[in-house]
Amino acid sequence: MTNPLVLGGTTEATALCRAMAEAGLSGTISFAGRVDRPVRQPLPQRVGGFGGVDGLAQYIRDNRISHLVDATHPFAVQMSRNAVEACALTGTPLVALTRAPWQPESGDRWRAVADIPAAVAALDGAPQRVMLAVGRMHLAEFAPNPQHFYLLRLVDPPKAPLPLPDTHVVVDRGPFSLDDDLALMRAHRIDVVVSKNAGGTGARAKLLAARELGLPVIMIDRPAPPLRREIHNVADVLDWLAH
Ligand code: NAP
Repeated sequence: MTNPLVLGGTTEATALCRAMAEAGLSGTISFAGRVDRPVRQPLPQRVGGFGGVDGLAQYIRDNRISHLVDATHPFAVQMSRNAVEACALTGTPLVALTRAPWQPESGDRWRAVADIPAAVAALDGAPQRVMLAVGRMHLAEFAPNPQHFYLLRLVDPPKAPLPLPDTHVVVDRGPFSLDDDLALMRAHRIDVVVSKNAGGTGARAKLLAARELGLPVIMIDRPAPPLRREIHNVADVLDWLAH
């Protein structure tokens, strides 16, 4: 019997689960448990880490998982590496549902940096008003630059004091609109945007807003993914599951 496990946490994973449910396919979606209220899913869900490669391999065996779809965020590279190794150990077919990186277009003022430490280094200068769109887990890495004002957009309200002294937190989750992001960036008189190159549509509005306002963007490149088969749309994943 087909019994897929979808590694989720993205808009694409949610779209895949909706399509699977509509096609009458069963399966389970897995979340890391980073947010208080994951988006409701039409498939059964499980929450929390598996315990590394061995834990995931054990989960696959115990639950008779037939296929693994890695639909995690392009920066969730540890999970993606574990998925490749656990599938190799258990002989489970694996695909990754991925989205193309964003590319700069006419009017964009992007500075590409290799990783988060390089983005931190790029902010080593006079005080600015920064929209820091890197997610809660990476805020502490920006502590070496306390001179800036940081506009933070987080899925949940912070539960502990933030590691940056001058911040404004907006609690919201995507997808975001151009009009709202323009208004937000104008209201906070943003000078520069820091973004991960996530790709997709849900978080792209801030880049369109930065273009319209003529603002520079420090764009953090994706980490290299492990070698695996990649599929770029939900319909092709359904086909893969069917065959
Ligand atoms: P990561 O660094 O690649 O993974 C760290 C550990 O978290 C993994 O080894 C695994 O723990 C657990 N984990 C990650 N994704 C999981 C999943 N879908 N189900 C069960 N366990 C999972 O991951 P991350 O960058 O912290 O991202 C965590 C989750 O947030 C992912 O599901 C991702 O899709 C989502 N997300 C991430 C970002 C981002 O910028 N990184 C942005 C939006 C959404 P064990 O080793 O114990 O199995």
